[in-house]
Amino acid sequence: MSAVSLTCRVCATEHPLEAIGSCSRCFGPLDPVYDWDALAGAVTRKRIEAGPASIWRYADLLPVAAPSEPQLSPGWTPLVPAPRLAREVGVRELWLKLDTANPTHSFKDRVVAVAARKAQELGLGTLACSSTGNLAGAVAARAAAEGLEAAVFVPHDLEPEKLTAAAAYGPTVYVVDGHYDHCSRLTVELSFELPWGFVNVNLRSYYAEGSKTLAYEIAEQLGWQLPDVVVAPIASGALFHKVGQGFGELRRLRLVDGVLPSLVGGQAAGCAPVATAFATGERVVPVRPDTIARSLAIGSPADGDFAVATARETGGAIHAVAEEAVGENMALLARTTGVFGETATGVTLGALRSAVADEQIRARDRVVLLVTGDGLKTPGPVSFTYSPVAIEPDAEAFLDEVLGVTGVVA
Ligand SMILES: *Cc1c(COP(=O)(O)O)cnc(C)c1O
Ligand SMILES: [Zn+2]
Repeated sequence: MSAVSLTCRVCATEHPLEAIGSCSRCFGPLDPVYDWDALAGAVTRKRIEAGPASIWRYADLLPVAAPSEPQLSPGWTPLVPAPRLAREVGVRELWLKLDTANPTHSFKDRVVAVAARKAQELGLGTLACSSTGNLAGAVAARAAAEGLEAAVFVPHDLEPEKLTAAAAYGPTVYVVDGHYDHCSRLTVELSFELPWGFVNVNLRSYYAEGSKTLAYEIAEQLGWQLPDVVVAPIASGALFHKVGQGFGELRRLRLVDGVLPSLVGGQAAGCAPVATAFATGERVVPVRPDTIARSLAIGSPADGDFAVATARETGGAIHAVAEEAVGENMALLARTTGVFGETATGVTLGALRSAVADEQIRARDRVVLLVTGDGLKTPGPVSFTYSPVAIEPDAEAFLDEVLGVTGVVA
């Protein structure tokens, strides 16, 4: 394990590798820092390729030790080409990163696996979180797999599919009378009072690092090459910022070379504080979320300004996607690729299409779209695709009256 401390992203004050949610001097976010000289010698493509088919193949670049007996490990999810969707949206080469293949069908299994390891190292017996849905399921499942207690705090208006799927793993579900930002504030206060591992509060530095594995996997699965563009959804902005960091680390370690990918982000129009900040050049101003993309409904995004910086530094952009376009994009993805992504993915595909229209993505680019969650948890917005044809159980009537092919068959 090569992490040496937690360092404030804003004022650079160092803190020990404990359950500390933010900088004691300026409340800025804390990032694990590593001994890069030691890593440069030790971490090779060969060493990584010999590792397990999960996020733990990159344990050298994570702030916790890999579990000795891994349970339900996330990561090493498929990266698949999407040629028909590529043609439809006008890019040369499009790949889908299918984080629906993780144990609870979202990218949150990556971040929770890392935070849970830290909770275990620190002897914290309860995993907790504030959640927009997918995190609740990932925390509850991880706790069940490891024999820990789980407590999840969710806003009252989440999709019932997500809450039921989380509840099945046996956590205590606290439904908060308010939206996500109320849940988040509550868990920050509780984290000072309870000896619990709040994965996205006092363990946030470890949690967020798990997102870097998406960048590592994409590069490795492309044969240790960098794509030109990666398109990702933005809620708190942690995923987006950390994916950018992950590509930078691979290049620093000389595991890849070339130009770092442009990062294009998507938010739903009903909760787009980061897209607004990107457009105006101002700092992120909190909003009251009102969107069908519940997993992205964070009005006060902790890493929002860092996500804006990532988009600017990489030559990317951040787009607000119309609410009506979310379901249409979910259906477009499903019918052209066979992949059913959730509302967040409808937003991500919308951002990709906007970036093509604005010529931020060029026709010759190799583009990767992150599918971070499963449409089966949020089927509502594609209900318009269900228009079944009612028929009698009668073959002759079917051929004759429905298909009109009697003559052909006879
Ligand atoms: C949580 C989540 C995200 C984004 O996460 P942040 O790191 O908070 O920006 C994206 N997609 C899905 C499906 C999620 O559940
Ligand atoms: Zn600080």
